[in-house]
Amino acid sequence: MDNYINFHTHKLSTQDGVITVYNQLLHEETDIPKQLYSAGLHPWHADKLSAAELSRILDLHGSSSNLVALGETGLDKVCKIPIQLQQDIFELHLNKAVILCKPVIIHCVKAWEELLEITRHYHIPMILHGYNGSDQLTANLVKRGFYFSVGTMILNPNSRICHAINHIPISSIFCETDDSDLPVQSIYKAVGGYLKMKETDFKRAVIENFVRLRNNKKVHAKNAK
Ligand SMILES: [Zn+2]
Repeated sequence: MDNYINFHTHKLSTQDGVITVYNQLLHEETDIPKQLYSAGLHPWHADKLSAAELSRILDLHGSSSNLVALGETGLDKVCKIPIQLQQDIFELHLNKAVILCKPVIIHCVKAWEELLEITRHYHIPMILHGYNGSDQLTANLVKRGFYFSVGTMILNPNSRICHAINHIPISSIFCETDDSDLPVQSIYKAVGGYLKMKETDFKRAVIENFVRLRNNKKVHAKNAK
């Protein structure tokens, strides 16, 4: 039986039948977790570590086989951190991800133009977490090859994602709970429902996406030859 994948959660708890990617906030803790995880400096806390410190910490994590992705990192125009500092820290993650051959989990709030500009020259897998964009934005992002991690917004029938989900290729979707206590199964159920897919087929598709991301290193290495 295929597992569920919770692609982005801030809770350390694990659950039978669920592959969990714990998101570690590097301004709070820097030790390497004993489970699959992502690690980054959140844009809300972009001023809490210097670029040199962050670079050193990311290098440390880069050697862990449990590290699935860098991030969450990104841009948030609603928080008080200067956008230039957020951009510098975001680009530091992107540059490090290229070197480490890792995907990047992105938090983006009201900064889509800047995001599209900054990421233009990076050919690494990038996952937009907690995604809730319009159909038009989604179409632009799909063209640029982003992955989309869908969270609890899908449970509110008035959310943009409930419509936009049908504009995302199945090969680009993940599910997550972020800081919610809801089981990831409820997200799968809702997304699968909108996509009119059988749950087993949807689970398998997400597993395939995950395997593709985890094999990213090999693809890069092959391209480098
Ligand atoms: Zn998060």
